[in-house]
Amino acid sequence: VIPSKYIEEAVNAMASLPGVGRKTALRYVLHMLSRSEEDVEHFAKALVQLRTHLKRCKVCQNVSDFDICAICSNPQRDNSTICVVEDVRDVMAIESTHQYKGLYHVLGGRISPMEGIGPGDLSISPLIGRLTHTAVKELILALSPTMEGDTTAFYIYRKVPAGSAFEITTLTRGVAVGDELQYTDEVTLGRSIALRTPYQKG
Ligand SMILES: [Zn+2]
Repeated sequence: VIPSKYIEEAVNAMASLPGVGRKTALRYVLHMLSRSEEDVEHFAKALVQLRTHLKRCKVCQNVSDFDICAICSNPQRDNSTICVVEDVRDVMAIESTHQYKGLYHVLGGRISPMEGIGPGDLSISPLIGRLTHTAVKELILALSPTMEGDTTAFYIYRKVPAGSAFEITTLTRGVAVGDELQYTDEVTLGRSIALRTPYQKG
């Protein structure tokens, strides 16, 4: 039994995080009590700022402090290549390999009838819009090698305007089936993005 409603509330908040049970939550909360008031305020402020100031890039939907993210606005990046990923963690994973110099498009998930996520819930229409308005030479479908990832890749493949001149590629499957992109080690992922292959439907 927790002897304080303040502790109880803080534990409930911590325990709502993925992978944090009540025991761990209590440990974090008691740890916070040992820190200075200034430290705890800084901690809370960092979280609130994240929610109020963080934006989605208007072009690629990546997280950004500005309307256009640091990748889209970087003139050194190759804007003829767009790499389609499920979420922001995939962008971070691919960036950490230093093997890719093009742009991204973050879908915000993958098609999953089981979870009630349809194409309309993802940023697929903005992607198709980008493809028709920019001089794209290559579209990389870097979705996770799961059934949902494959379904999403195939859906996008079908939506690409007929007669488009660009190449559609995918990561080489050094990434084992069922793996999430962001959990693949850097070397394997780096090789997968460097040695990409033409997309084959089915
Ligand atoms: Zn962007």
